[in-house]
Amino acid sequence: MTTKKAKYMNRIKQTIVTGGVILATLGTVTGCAAEEVPVPEGYEDIDTDLADVEEEAVPVEDMHMAEAVPYTGDEKEETETPADENTEVVEEVPEEEFLPGYPTEKDWKERHTGSVSYIWEPTVLVSIFVNEEEDFWTEEEKQVILNNCNIAYGFVADYMKENYDTDVELIYDWTEDPDLSMSIRLYEDVPAYITTEEERHYDQLELEWVEEIGYRDLCLKYNTSSIGFLYLIPHEGGSYSSIHFIDDGDYIWNEGTLLYLQDMYSPTYEYETPTVFAHELLHLFGAEDYYSSAEVFEKETYDTLSKECPDDIMLRTFTKVNGVYTTFPDEVYGEITPVTAYLLGVGDEDAIADLPELERKEAACFPGSVFDRPF
Ligand SMILES: [Zn+2]
Repeated sequence: MTTKKAKYMNRIKQTIVTGGVILATLGTVTGCAAEEVPVPEGYEDIDTDLADVEEEAVPVEDMHMAEAVPYTGDEKEETETPADENTEVVEEVPEEEFLPGYPTEKDWKERHTGSVSYIWEPTVLVSIFVNEEEDFWTEEEKQVILNNCNIAYGFVADYMKENYDTDVELIYDWTEDPDLSMSIRLYEDVPAYITTEEERHYDQLELEWVEEIGYRDLCLKYNTSSIGFLYLIPHEGGSYSSIHFIDDGDYIWNEGTLLYLQDMYSPTYEYETPTVFAHELLHLFGAEDYYSSAEVFEKETYDTLSKECPDDIMLRTFTKVNGVYTTFPDEVYGEITPVTAYLLGVGDEDAIADLPELERKEAACFPGSVFDRPF
């Protein structure tokens, strides 16, 4: 059994040599052979009070939808007789769609995009605030996250509209709709850097957290089938996203980003930045990392990417000032280039004329399996 999964770091490995502070933490991930890290204890110890919530979140069969449900066709057709005024009308109860456009959960999960679909479709983003044993989210810290979301997602929407005539609707503001956030208690501490072994544990936890959310109801409320999750950790760390790959079936269906309050790569542990929030969001819609240490493509591809897309936010989310790792706290610094637009399914194929490895048969989907990836 391999333990690899879709891990998209927003940082490049060269940061490892710049930040002496983090050398010890990163020791296990820089080499090819990651150390065996046992699954931390206490994994089942999620706050059990949330069990009731889970039950409520299970879709109720007799829930009535306000919208019309298309006729899906079933055996009732055979029983229909020619109607006249005197025939007793048998009321048809149409089957309820699981999500808009998807009659059943199976249909939904057979699509290739994962839980987050296309950037031009309204997408719900649920914030899951993870409170640890001794580290809780304060209201002030939550506001930092919301502010980052406002800046990052506002940037993406404006940029896509202005440059690619694409409407982007991201539904995330929990101050407008409390259903868009949830707090969870976890009786363990999430490490600043999650190793490959530990990822299996966090995959499972993320799955359990998502199951606490009435995510189907949320999708129906906003009339969309596209939903992603922000797993928010109240201290420093290295944020990454979990992506669905076409060949992986149910494995990592729920797409989301584990985002830390602070950036472990910053020498002063600055807050995680809007640029990182935007970078991770684009992963959920199909964008790749453009830095060579991602090791997914050939070296030539990364060379071309750094030449053709030097300011793309998929290439870098920070800069160096006099050799010092420096972030952009109150803005998204960078571009969404035509190459990225192509991967998102919006742009023209001409954008990847020099980048054959980036060609996609299907828009906004990660081809192959995550187990083919080098992380
Ligand atoms: Zn990335």
